[in-house]
Amino acid sequence: MKLKSLEISGFKSFADKTIIEFMPGMTGIVGPNGSGKSNIIEAIRWVMGEQSAKDLRGTKMSDIIFGGTNKRSALNRSEVSMTFDNSDHYIKSEFNEIRITRKLYRSGESTYQINGVDSRLRDIHELFMDTGLGRESFSIISQGRVEGIFNAKSEERRGIIEEVAGVYKYKQNKERAQKE
Ligand code: ATP
Ligand code: MG
Repeated sequence: MKLKSLEISGFKSFADKTIIEFMPGMTGIVGPNGSGKSNIIEAIRWVMGEQSAKDLRGTKMSDIIFGGTNKRSALNRSEVSMTFDNSDHYIKSEFNEIRITRKLYRSGESTYQINGVDSRLRDIHELFMDTGLGRESFSIISQGRVEGIFNAKSEERRGIIEEVAGVYKYKQNKERAQKE
């Protein structure tokens, strides 16, 4: 599974439609302070179903919609799409290409789509389940979190490593089975 592209429109500082195509290998995003690097990562977390406005550095979810500048008025809609090459079917889906889209209007109306079909947040979560991706996974580590990992107690750090390694869900299943 490979990340192919990210389309951002009306999300935070990205007022105009911006398309980022990911080439094979590693991608680095560089730019001056405040140019929108973190906003790109937040767009990725958002389209994967992030529900916490606070974790997107806002107080309410509509804070992610382009709020205007002194030259340009605010927008009413935010839309982010992320496309994966799934020709290896790493994501358990028949599709060779998977495109997820999330939209949010100032009115509060919000939608998700998977390959153009209206979907629920749950469907998005299920899509990424067991892939090591997903909104709360450690595949995305923010600036503040690095410090958190270093300062974590050893048991906590072990939990983080287990989650990254994909062992965590088996442990949870085991614990559940032992209780039953
Ligand atoms: P640094 O190098 O300091 O980490 P960065 O490149 O990560 O910077 P971001 O934090 O992604 O920068 O971008 C911050 C910019 O995004 C600020 O200028 C802020 O005003 C702008 N911004 C955030 N939310 C919105 C919004 N809803 N509408 C318009 N602009 C926004
Ligand atoms: Mg930043």
